[in-house]
Parts: sequence; structure tokens; C-alpha cells
Amino acid sequence: MSEFNVMRNFVYGLFVLSSADGDQASGCIINTAIQAASSPNVITIAVSKNGYTASLIQRSRKFNLSIIDERADFELFRHFGFQSGRDVDKFADYEHKKMADNGLWIVTEGTNAWVSCEVDQMVDLGSHLLFIAYVTESGKLSDSPSISYTWYHERIKPKPQETKGSKKAWRCTICGYVYEHPDLPADFICPWCGHPASDFEEISID
Ligand code: FE
Repeated sequence: MSEFNVMRNFVYGLFVLSSADGDQASGCIINTAIQAASSPNVITIAVSKNGYTASLIQRSRKFNLSIIDERADFELFRHFGFQSGRDVDKFADYEHKKMADNGLWIVTEGTNAWVSCEVDQMVDLGSHLLFIAYVTESGKLSDSPSISYTWYHERIKPKPQETKGSKKAWRCTICGYVYEHPDLPADFICPWCGHPASDFEEISID
């Protein structure tokens, strides 16, 4: 098994990560939040460097995490995960939100709890920035269980249609985006979800 397949055996939760700087606010979906210490209460998150939310956190040094639960539908992932905050203001017309005391939005539907965090340190990991942060506030939203990344893949992500054809193409296994070209560049980044070429599978299309 390749290294990349093995990495998929890790278990992750899913979160809406939100931040803001001045009147610019945005959010994205991440699977990389953990509680790293309990006293003090420390959270770490790893965020793709290319993302708009990462740039907002670098500037404001604060973020909120809304923990996604079993009631979440694909629309939540599509809205926060498959478009860039550089193109759309994801919170402008979003109904299911509430502002925490730190001035950042939290998502209130399909989520069971939230935390507000203040960044203490940032580590550059290459593709991602690791933020080490202290929890400043938190709240509970529902009793619905949190979901894992596996749950998302099995129950929420739309099933790709079986495609058979003579033309070679590549499909993002994370979001379903199809790159209609026989060769996938090694440094390719999915335009919908920001995942790298290693998360693509070869398919054939008409
Ligand atoms: Fe993708």
C-alpha cells in the first residue's frame, strides 16, 4: 500500500474553521483540529496555506471552530469547502450563524459545539500552516454526535457516477472535481477543494 493510502486510515473529525480581519470574514472546512493539551486548553489546527482563511488567521491571530455533527448535509461542505473566500463572502448571506464574543462567526446548523481560539504560535509545515492556540470561549449547540472524515465520505459526499469511456481523466477523491486531461501534473491543486494531485484517481470518460 502506498504511503498516501495508508494516510487515509487515520481518523479525523470535521470542522468549519472561521476567521476574520476587519470587515473581511471567511471560513473553510478542515479535518485537522485536535485538543493538544488540557491545562491550559490548547488546540492545534493545520490549514492549507493557499486558503483565504489561513491568511485571515495569520493577520488576526484568532479563529473559531464549529464541530460538524451527523445532521450536516452536503450543502454545508459545498458552501464552506468547495469555493474560495477570495471569490465569495461565505458568511454574507449565510443564515445559520452566530457571532461569538471574539467577533468571529460560528456555524449553528449541522454543528454540535464551537470553540474560540487565540493563536500563540504558528509553524510553517510546507503545504499547511500549523496554528497552536488557546481556547478563550466555547459553547454547546446540540447532542448530535460529531462526524468523522470517513462518515463524510461514506454518507454525505455525493457518490460519483460510474463513468466509462475512452478518454482518460482524473477525479478528485475528496470533492469529485474532474480534470479532463490524460495527464495530471504532479503539482496540481484541486480548484474546488485545494487538495493535491495525490488525492486524484484515474477515471475514463466519454
Ligand atoms: Fe477536490
